[in-house]
This record gives sequence, structure tokens and C-alpha cells, in this order.
Amino acid sequence: MDKQLRIALAGNPNSGKTTLFNKLTGSNQFVGNWPGVTVEKKEGKLIVNKEVILTDLPGIYSLSPYTLEEVVARNYLIEEKPDAILNIVDATNLERNLYLTTQLTELGIPVVIALNMMDLVKKAGDSINVKELSRQLGCRIVEISALKGDGVKDAALAAIEAAKNGKTVPQHTFSGPVEHALAHIEEVTVHDLPEERQRWYAIKLFERDEKVLESLHLGASVKSHIEQDIAACEKELDDDAESIITNERYVYIGETLKGIYRKKGKGQLSVSDKIDKVVTNRILALPIFAIVMFLVYALAMGKSVADGGIAIGTWLTDLANDVLGEAWLKEGSRAILEGWGAAPWLIGLISDGILAGVGAVLGFVPQMLVLFLMLCLLEDCGYMARIAFIMDRIFRRFGLSGKSFIPMLVGTGCGIPGVMASRTIENERDRRMTITTTTFMPCGAKMPIIGLIAGALFGGSTWIAVSAYFIGVAAIVISGIMLKKTKMFAGDPAPFVMELPAYHLPAWGNVLRGTWERGWSFIKRAGTVIVISSIVIWFLTSFGSVNGNFGMVDALYEDDSVVTDEYVAQVADRMGIPEDEVEPMDDSLLARVAQPVSVVFKPLGFGDWKPTAATVTGLVAKEEVVANFGIMYAYDDQEGEEELEENGDQIWDRVADDFNAFSGGHGKLAAFAFMIFNLLCAPCFAAIGAIKREMNSAKWTWFAIGYQCGFAWVMAFIVWQVGRLFAGGMNVVGLVIALILLGLLCWQLFKPYRESQKLTVK
Ligand code: GDP
Ligand code: MG
Repeated sequence: MDKQLRIALAGNPNSGKTTLFNKLTGSNQFVGNWPGVTVEKKEGKLIVNKEVILTDLPGIYSLSPYTLEEVVARNYLIEEKPDAILNIVDATNLERNLYLTTQLTELGIPVVIALNMMDLVKKAGDSINVKELSRQLGCRIVEISALKGDGVKDAALAAIEAAKNGKTVPQHTFSGPVEHALAHIEEVTVHDLPEERQRWYAIKLFERDEKVLESLHLGASVKSHIEQDIAACEKELDDDAESIITNERYVYIGETLKGIYRKKGKGQLSVSDKIDKVVTNRILALPIFAIVMFLVYALAMGKSVADGGIAIGTWLTDLANDVLGEAWLKEGSRAILEGWGAAPWLIGLISDGILAGVGAVLGFVPQMLVLFLMLCLLEDCGYMARIAFIMDRIFRRFGLSGKSFIPMLVGTGCGIPGVMASRTIENERDRRMTITTTTFMPCGAKMPIIGLIAGALFGGSTWIAVSAYFIGVAAIVISGIMLKKTKMFAGDPAPFVMELPAYHLPAWGNVLRGTWERGWSFIKRAGTVIVISSIVIWFLTSFGSVNGNFGMVDALYEDDSVVTDEYVAQVADRMGIPEDEVEPMDDSLLARVAQPVSVVFKPLGFGDWKPTAATVTGLVAKEEVVANFGIMYAYDDQEGEEELEENGDQIWDRVADDFNAFSGGHGKLAAFAFMIFNLLCAPCFAAIGAIKREMNSAKWTWFAIGYQCGFAWVMAFIVWQVGRLFAGGMNVVGLVIALILLGLLCWQLFKPYRESQKLTVK
């Protein structure tokens, strides 16, 4: 053989490219990156002929210049000019897949189609008139099943044959005015290029493809000449050039497929199809979704069964809190340690630090297990897959793809796999947007925050937990729509086709394993990260400088020569509280650091040092918010031990009292704003690390963090300021600013979407 042949494997994402590539090359693969970018480049020698190199192109839907993958793929095809293209086509999705095929055949490179997933087509009893399709497209078609290996070798041989002496001439033509313009463009711009490549260039020039326009170095007069041709055609067909081409390709494919794909058993619906008719119904889908999620949260975190609700989770958590919270565990541990003659600081560290912090978090484990159990059930029976599908249908209008909702569903467990799931999104801009918004979902670690606020301030109301979930979903949807309308994220949604698995009864093994895995990782964190940070927090809340003396603040406050009346007045002044509310912890290191920062949260209703410290330490791990409350409020124990005996939930009652105190009696509203901010602001460091890895750019990572915190602040601000309009005690300036922010938000949300007129890929 005189020359090594090169064949490019091209196709849509999920068409089976990787499966086919592996079957064709076996172990002869080499992996690298495409020049200059981080997109993976895979090459391999064909098993049937080691002289032939097969290159796996990125999965793409089109040869337009809008995504990194498209640019990489088409640069390779144009500049490296492989000897043939093996176009893998998903036979169960012909219409969408052939859109790319019509473009590949225009390149002047021989094309062979590997018609994949034929096993599925046959299993469904459908049939495809391959001979006729081959004639219409002007290229050879080999039916294969990459998964089973059927026809794979024939496809390789056909591609080699085409590479040696094949030729593909596109069979489709565009409408009169377009062809007229194309002929003109070819004449004035590309007549010195090889004939078989002229058409592709002409079409791209017609579409005003900037990258092609640049590469051809046309003179100004030529440019204005072809611009006239394009404008004339656009006027005649009353659409923009790019949409005209897209549209006509789809019309052509639609016509071609009419007699070619024959479906068997039209009209017969399986049970699963019947359920889907209701569940994914255009009108009912969203209300059903809302009811399902309401029930999930009502059962897990709503009103306890002991209080007439249906929440088994809350009931168990209440029991756990009685035990873990303080009465038994802390008093018990204190007694034991005192019996051993342990130093007071050690008793404090263990009882008021580690046990208070970890216990506060572990108390919420039952709620979390019940919640995860139900989410796993929904996932396993196939319902969750429908949600992405429903979302896709609704949000396509706003340029959002359902693919962006899959990470969101994953993110209900933990934000990190959620962020990582965004890898499946090919379009770089959509991927960035999804990475930025995924952690808005209430992950497992945020559950205790929700449980705490709902339990301590809202009497266990089901609505708080439910609202937390829908606030997360709404934040993602609202952000998606708003960001999509900015220059940074504009662009058509990636086509989203997801195979909806048939509903089935849950496999209990899977469900229990999934529940346990999520619950266990939570418990493990409580035993590691939370223990360590609880020690740090305990130290920071126990030590401080009191009137110039450094030491344990509790001890120093017992010394009247240190804590004079004058000094108490000073502290009261610094903390902005009445003198009789001054407590030792106000002089702790944590209070000193958090107090100045709390200014940031004043406009949100919780500008006190304790919630501020909790919020900031939430960056270490979201459980830390609750652990921190556990430690900060554990302190009061020393004051009234008899009170403790009466009620195990003391800590959370004190949290509620405090929220009421610093918010001027609007504890509920302030706590709700606190919850919103903590749900939406930057996630924990581990998740920020995942964001950084997936963004692969410091700039975009900072953008994500900034956006999350900014969005959280604005939402909490609006809730606190507007809420007081109804609850009383409103602040006119705050209200006006909140209304302006709300107006801006709505404006960005409802202004027309720039590209909504354009035909999008179905
Ligand atoms: P890629 O995104 O194009 O690389 O697609 P993959 O090779 O990852 O395949 C996507 C999915 O389709 C995988 O779950 C494959 O197992 C499945 N798949 C690929 N080829 C076939 C086939 O011929 N028949 C069936 N039933 N499934 C297939
Ligand atoms: Mg692949």
C-alpha cells in the first residue's frame, strides 16, 4: 500500500460512536488532545486493516461554528481532509441524525453511513428502506449494531473501499433562490478551489459563517457582492440565511423519510406509554411533578406524624434530637468526664464542642434517609428521567436544554456529582451555565439547615421543606433563562433526546443501596470534617480577649475585676444589644471576626454575628451551619440546667428566640431569608473544587461563585424587605431597592429571547 488511509468517524453524541470505535480498533488506540484544546482526540488502527487509521471526531449535531466540538470536528475535516468519513447514524433517530449527514456529504469527501442501533429498530418491528435511503443521500449505507457487533466489519470494509476510490455527491438541493445565490457565491469566491469542495464553502459563506469568511481572505468588494446576494435571498424568503438553510435541510429530510421508515404497530400503547400520556401531558406534567415532590418532602421533612402531619422523617429526627441534642448525650458525657476528673476545658471541648456540633448534624440523619429513600425510589422506577424530558419541552423556548436539568436531579444528593454530570453537555456555554446553577439544589448537607429552620421557627411546617426544594428548582430555571439572554451564554439549545426507560417496579436492592450510600457519606462527613471543624469552632467560641485579658471567655466573665459594668456597656455598644443580653461569647474570637462581617447580612434580616459565623463556616461543609448553631447555643446550658430537663429541643428553641430578638420580632422572616441565602450561596469548598475542575478556568470559577452569592443575596434581600411590607416594620429605602431589583429581574426574565424566532434543531 502506497499511502496510509485515514478515515474519520463522525456522528451525533450518543449515536454509538465510542462503541463502534472500540469494536473497530480493539486495543490499537491512542488517546491525546486535539491541538490547542482540551477535547479528547482518539485514534486507532482498524482491526481489519492495520494500515488504516480511524479518528474518532467529537460528537456533534452540525458543522456550524458554535461549539468547540463542532469547530474541532470541522477543522479536521476541512484541513486534514481524511480519505473518507464513516458517518454513524442512530437509526432510531433518523431525522435528527441525518441533519449532520446532509452536511457531511457536502464536504467533497466520500461518506459511508453506518446505520446503527438496527437491533432496536428490528426489535420494535420497524423497518427502514435502506436502498432507497442510500439513493436519496448519495452514499453507501451499512446496517450495523455496534453494541452486538453486527455488520461492524462490513462497515469498515465499505469505508476503506470508499476511501480508495469513492466519491460522494450531495443529492439534495436547496430552493431556487438559495441555489441562485449559491451559484453566484461559488463563482466570485471559490472557483479556484477543487470542485468537490466548492459547494460546502459556498453554503458556509451564504450562512455568513465568520470562521470560513476569515479563512478565505476575501476582498472587501467581493464581500459586499456576496452580501448583496445573501440579502436578496433573505428578503425573498423572509428569513435569515442560516435559518433558511437549516429549515430547508429539515424539509428535505422530512420528505425523504416519508416512505422510508415504516413503523409497526402504530397506535398500540404499552402500560408505560399510557402512564407517560398522563405524567408527561403538556398541562398535567408540572402539577404532577409539584405534587410528587410535595409528597416526598412532606413525608421526609414535613410536619411530624406526632403533630398530625405525615412526616415519618421528622418524627424520627425529633426522637434523635432528643437523644443526641443534649439531654442524654451531653449531660451523660459531662457526668462521665467529670467523674474521671477531666479538666473543665476538655469537658467543654468534648461536650459543648464535638458532641454538640456532630450531634446537631446527626440528629437530622433520619429525615435525610427518608428523603433519599424516596428520591431513589423515584429515580429507580423511571420517574426522574421524565422530569428532564418535561423540563426540556418547556424550557426549549427559552433556549435551555433539558440536559441542563439532569445535573440538577443528580445534585439533590450532592452537588459534586451534580457538577460533574454537566460533562454530558456538549455545548460549552450551556455546560458553564449548568455548572454555575446546579448547586442551587438543596443537597443532602443542606437538609439539616432546612430541617432546623422548619422545625425551630415554623413549628415543623411542611411548606418550608417543600419550598426549599422549589426555591432550588426556581433558582436554576430563573438563572438559566436570565443568563441565556446575556451575550456570554446565548445560543441555540443543544438537541436533547433522551431515551425514556419504561417504568418498572423499583428494584429494592438498588433503592436501598442508593439510599444507604448517600446517607453513609453524610454520616462519614459528620465523623470527619464536622468533628474537626467543630473543634475549631469550639476553640473560636470559647477563647477570646476580655477587657485586655486573653483566655476562656466563660472563666474571664466570672471575674468581676475584669468584667466591670463599664466594660459590659462597651460590649453592648459594640454588639448593638442591650447590656443585660451581653454574654461571654460576645467576646469570643468568632464573635470578634464575625461581627464586622455581619454588616453584609444586615439588609437580609440576619445581620447578627451568630448566623453570620454559621453562614461563613458553611463554606467548609453545609452541615457546618447547623453544627455551628449547635455549638454556639450549647453555651447557654450552664445557665439553667433544670430547664434543660423539660425539653430536649432547647437548643433549637434558643435559636428561634435569638432570631426573633435580632430581627425585631420578625424571626420567621429573617430565618426564611437566612435559609434562602444558605441554600443558594456558594457551595462548600469541595463542590467549589469540582466547579473549578469542570470549568477549567479561574475566571469562570470566580464568575460562578460570584453569581451564586450575588443571586442568593438579592433573593434573600427581596424576601426580607418585601416580606416586612406584609409582616410590618418595613424599611422604605430597603423596600424601594428591593422592588427595583425585582423589576430588573423580571425584565431580564421576560424580555424576548433573541433567537426565539429561529428554527431550532428538533
Ligand atoms: P457516543 O456518545 O456516540 O460515543 O455513544 P456510545 O458509544 O457511548 O453509545 C451510547 C449508548 O448507546 C450506549 O449506552 C451504548 O451501549 C448504546 N449503543 C451503542 N450502539 C448500540 C446498538 O447498536 N444497539 C443498542 N441497542 N445500543 C447501542
Ligand atoms: Mg462517546
